[in-house]
Amino acid sequence: MQKFDVIIVGFGWSAIPLIRELERTGVEFTCISGEGDTVWDALSAAGRLDFDLVSDYQTSFFSFDLVSQYKRDYHPTADEFYAMRQRLQREYGRKVVRDRVIRVDNFADHSLVSTASGNTLKATHVVLATGFQRPISADLEEIDYGVSNRTFVFDTMGDSTNLMISKLAPNNNKIIVRTNGFTPIDKVLAIGPPEQRKIVALSRLEFHNFRYFSHRDFASVSFGPPGGEGDPPFLLADQYPDTVRGNGPQAAGGTGGAGVAGPANGTVITKYWPIDLYSKEFGGNLEDAIARGYLLNDIAMWLWTGQVIVVPKSTPIDLEQKTVNWRGFRRRFDEYIPGGDEHPRLPEITLGGKNPFRYAYRDSFMGVLNPQLNNVYFLGYTRPMIGGSPNISEMQALFIHKMIVQPDFKQRIHGNLKARIAAYNAFYYGNSPPGTRDHVVYYGFYNDELARLMGIDHRPEHIQSLSDMIFYYAFPNDAFKYRIKGEYAVEGMGDLYRRINREYGGFILPMAFFLTGIAEGPSRRSQWQRQTYRHFINDMRYKEPFRSFLERYVQTYRRVTGMAVEGAADPEWDAMAECAAGTRRRLARRVPAPATGKFDEAMQNEIHRLASLLGQGRQALVYTLMQMDAASQKNFEVMLNPPEYDLPFLHP
Ligand SMILES: Cc1cc2nc3c(=O)[nH]c(=O)nc-3n(C[C@H](O)[C@H](O)[C@H](O)COP(=O)(O)OP(=O)(O)OC[C@H]3O[C@@H](n4cnc5c(N)ncnc54)[C@H](O)[C@@H]3O)c2cc1C
Repeated sequence: MQKFDVIIVGFGWSAIPLIRELERTGVEFTCISGEGDTVWDALSAAGRLDFDLVSDYQTSFFSFDLVSQYKRDYHPTADEFYAMRQRLQREYGRKVVRDRVIRVDNFADHSLVSTASGNTLKATHVVLATGFQRPISADLEEIDYGVSNRTFVFDTMGDSTNLMISKLAPNNNKIIVRTNGFTPIDKVLAIGPPEQRKIVALSRLEFHNFRYFSHRDFASVSFGPPGGEGDPPFLLADQYPDTVRGNGPQAAGGTGGAGVAGPANGTVITKYWPIDLYSKEFGGNLEDAIARGYLLNDIAMWLWTGQVIVVPKSTPIDLEQKTVNWRGFRRRFDEYIPGGDEHPRLPEITLGGKNPFRYAYRDSFMGVLNPQLNNVYFLGYTRPMIGGSPNISEMQALFIHKMIVQPDFKQRIHGNLKARIAAYNAFYYGNSPPGTRDHVVYYGFYNDELARLMGIDHRPEHIQSLSDMIFYYAFPNDAFKYRIKGEYAVEGMGDLYRRINREYGGFILPMAFFLTGIAEGPSRRSQWQRQTYRHFINDMRYKEPFRSFLERYVQTYRRVTGMAVEGAADPEWDAMAECAAGTRRRLARRVPAPATGKFDEAMQNEIHRLASLLGQGRQALVYTLMQMDAASQKNFEVMLNPPEYDLPFLHP
């Protein structure tokens, strides 16, 4: 029987950073994997890599690849992503054995790995990296986009559903989304005072470490005010109450049983190109953009125009008669897309060759370590709400590598594994029941936690200057942030960091945004946030002037895709859309249209102040602090020693 230190099961995307570390440190391993059966392979074979990524380049690739390939941040097309991925797979696939693992029997100090070809191998460590099983993948491959004037019911919502909607809506299909909630968020944002306004990817504004200052403030500055505080919640929640989950932003203030994390794990966020920024970026040459795969997938715009209607999951549906009953309408539909939850594609796993092991995300620490299993690790089954999954799998790979090569480290983590899991779950899920989205996390929270466990983190007590402070708080917690120095440093990362820092104006904007938001205080914050030139993500009224652009887009889309669409009157649908819009209009009256001025002015002042302080050493910083008003001084001091830094599940 062949024996290995490490067997990796599955050579998709997630295994690559682990293979790199094992090779770097001379650990004996093999990787057993199926071939050509990932969702990307299938979409490529079906000629359907005709869209762009929801995540930006910086979060979609590994540190060691960014170092040599990075030119600028953008949203790669699926075609480009697949090609880049194939390149890395060729580079790291030398040792891959093509076979299928059908069973893993786990014992106290080893595992037996059985394959479809009849082999059984022995390993001290087994890493499972088999990717997800996603029922919606089949629809992505097979759905017929060449139809018009039909009614589709999607019993699911997420980025894949939104991709399908973006290809159906321009052909005058009508779409009903039956869901318990999702949070639509612009995937790019224009932020900053008018003359410095810059379009940036959403994940570049994920100033996650501010939660150590205050989880509650972090949630309310980045998501808007939590519900139930007397302030009217932001427009989106008002207009589409069913689109916001119980443990989403509304629960960020600690309500809803979702733990104290604020915000909690598990929020469904659908990221899309907002029409105003899309028109700016691609309006000059729409044909080319559409042909390359940059599609207008602004779900909020489709909701605004009434092409898409969201109905609660409890809405009665008759799959035989093909009807949905909603607010007195009995709408016939043509196509039904059930969706379904994603699950790890795990082979059978047994405890000691006898008892079956059953997987549940909450039973594992950080989604990686399950106390029932010895030396078995899960890699790639934790997903980010925003940003690319490689960002997370790279950190998981380092964590797993460290446990494999440093028994003391593993012992430290394992010593109180059950207590860690209990503390993590209390923090992120509170008393909410286990759900199918438990594995969806804030990548910046998650990455910093893994970095802290491994001791490769940056620490607030090491802040020596304002630039350090901005780096700590406002530079996003991408995996590469933790590979500039320390045990897992990657050569050239310091240069990459400096380039990215320059590209994003030193990340002063998110820093200023947070500080200004905090300065407003909880009671005035919601009003302040409404003064943004279009309420960031939540106000759809600013979309109205873009109706003519939408019409131009629709005509161009049909031309590029060769669709001839006959207009068809549909009074029943119009009445349904009117009914949906009625609720929205009634609620919108409570919230005034965005004013201008104060938000921009406050941001500008903060940016100027930060810029004038940059470049000063700690002593000068302390001196400047002393000149500040009491509230600002206090905020800066708090950031040097943030009160909510301690997280019980990270204790030694
Ligand atoms: C439409 C769409 C858009 C997406 N957009 C993005 C995006 O913008 N950014 C982003 O980061 N992610 C995106 N994703 C998700 C991302 O592509 C996947 O999550 C990622 O490919 C997962 O990589 P993985 O290595 O974990 O799994 P996979 O790529 O699925 O690889 C798993 C490997 O394991 C092998 N395997 C499985 N079972 C066994 C077994 N029993 N024995 C041996 N081998 C086995 C398979 O053959 C496969 O090679 C998107 C997904 C879809 C569908």
